[in-house]
Amino acid sequence: MPHRFAAKTGRAARPGRSTESGAVPPENTPSAVVVGGGISGLIAARDLARAGIRVTVLEATGSFGGCVGRHEVAGIRLDSGAESFATKSTAVPELISELGLSGAVVQPNPAGSWLQLAAADLPAGAQRMPASGILGIPADPRDPDIVRALGRVGAARAALDKVLPVGALQRRESVSLGEVVRSRMGEAVLRRLVTPVVGGVYSADPNVLDVDSVAPGLRAAIAKHGSLAAAVGAIRAAAPAGSAVAGLEGGMGRLAEALTADLEASGVLLLAGTRAEKLSRHNDGWQIRVADGDGDTRELSADAVVVATDGPAAVDLMSGALPELSAYKPSPGPGVALVTLVVDRPELDAMPRGTGVLVDREVEGVDAKALTHATAKWQWLADSTGPGTHVLRLSYGRALSPDDAASEPAHAERADEDLLRQAVADASALLQVSLSAEDVVGADVVRWVGALPSAAVGHSDRVAAVRAAVAEVSGLEAVGAWLAGTGLAAVTADTRTRTAALARALQQV
Ligand SMILES: Cc1cc2nc3c(=O)[nH]c(=O)nc-3n(C[C@H](O)[C@H](O)[C@H](O)COP(=O)(O)OP(=O)(O)OC[C@H]3O[C@@H](n4cnc5c(N)ncnc54)[C@H](O)[C@@H]3O)c2cc1C
Repeated sequence: MPHRFAAKTGRAARPGRSTESGAVPPENTPSAVVVGGGISGLIAARDLARAGIRVTVLEATGSFGGCVGRHEVAGIRLDSGAESFATKSTAVPELISELGLSGAVVQPNPAGSWLQLAAADLPAGAQRMPASGILGIPADPRDPDIVRALGRVGAARAALDKVLPVGALQRRESVSLGEVVRSRMGEAVLRRLVTPVVGGVYSADPNVLDVDSVAPGLRAAIAKHGSLAAAVGAIRAAAPAGSAVAGLEGGMGRLAEALTADLEASGVLLLAGTRAEKLSRHNDGWQIRVADGDGDTRELSADAVVVATDGPAAVDLMSGALPELSAYKPSPGPGVALVTLVVDRPELDAMPRGTGVLVDREVEGVDAKALTHATAKWQWLADSTGPGTHVLRLSYGRALSPDDAASEPAHAERADEDLLRQAVADASALLQVSLSAEDVVGADVVRWVGALPSAAVGHSDRVAAVRAAVAEVSGLEAVGAWLAGTGLAAVTADTRTRTAALARALQQV
């Protein structure tokens, strides 16, 4: 394969696209505009169209799917954002089945991932990620793998969770995940187990994350079961057996593509390169000002609007009709850079670190917070690259508390060439295989800015306030990860519930 060291920024706009194929419902049927063509907007559009409503989807960038995106590296079509879905709920499998994709569902390699700790904490540096509970919080701090990661003192402190009274934390309105873990199980669990896992999933430090947003029901379970470990054990026991995530052969991008094709076939008008700028009430319906890529604006009207953008954009749009929402505008989520390397190194066929590595912040000389060995994780991908060629994805950047932010550089903001060099060095250190630029046959940098919603302390209260305000306005709904929680499972389930209620209301008009 040719040597390529390209870099690009994600979400690049292609020229606008509109689709008017399929059977368009008659003029007198209710109409809806969906703002945002990410997965939540596409699902909302599908369910509204199936309820007989005329739907238009507006997407600001040149392509649909949002965080479920695609890119091509060294001639291989890869996911540029989400690459799996949680199987704890049936929401995504059901949608996949409706789209005729069930046969493409695949399980990741059960080898699992590794944990890279600072040498002072774990002399060997890396160990298999202990089979823990949720978000790295152990259900059993006496498990030998957990004791190894925590050290004897850390494990003894974690065990105190069993006897500490359940009190003050439960009464607090908003509390961070970090504070819950630290107060119940101590600093070692927080830093060595929870911080690497949470950094990989939410690109944020546990100290800034609202526990009720990222682990809904955890505080109630602590109160019920008397300790954090018991709460985690109970939540795990209630989850389906087997792998916690699954993927699609060919990549999760297929989900967005199948949804888009389905919408086209249903006569939904898909307008890419079209940004909604303003929403206003108009008679009994809505007027939406839109701008195309050239900045030309025009007005659309509809009986209903579903706002399916990121949080800050949604609040800006809805504040025209609901001025009180401005007070609940979330901050944009963390900036994240994903560096994908395609490397020709047969030693990696042995999968030295399973499906990848989660990295403790204290590890010296490594700036990545996580590495996914994609060809080890997904057999379909290994089959398509063939032996000796490997896809590695390293992620950079996370939301930190103000104190930590002052001490850690913003890695996600570094120049592409700098990140590519760092990624080669980090992959060498994490995989224990010395890689050089000559081994890299293709590379890409994709930046996701504000795409992972902020779930900062107080977020769950903000979400409740936004939902209460939106519920007061007829013909308005808001969906998406900033309200439902990060991840395809949460977004799919919530979008479908809310869209069904809107469709019923529109059918009654
Ligand atoms: C790098 C990365 C990896 C991830 N990995 C996973 C994973 O493996 N598994 C998992 O379950 N989840 C994963 N997630 C999370 C998951 O992808 C998201 O929670 C989910 O896709 C969010 O969907 P959404 O529709 O709410 O938002 P988005 O995907 O952000 O879509 C919102 C859309 O609205 C558009 N928009 C914004 N403003 C306007 C406007 N004014 N007018 C018109 N359009 C507008 C945007 O361009 C965007 O396309 C990942 C996320 C990221 C960023």
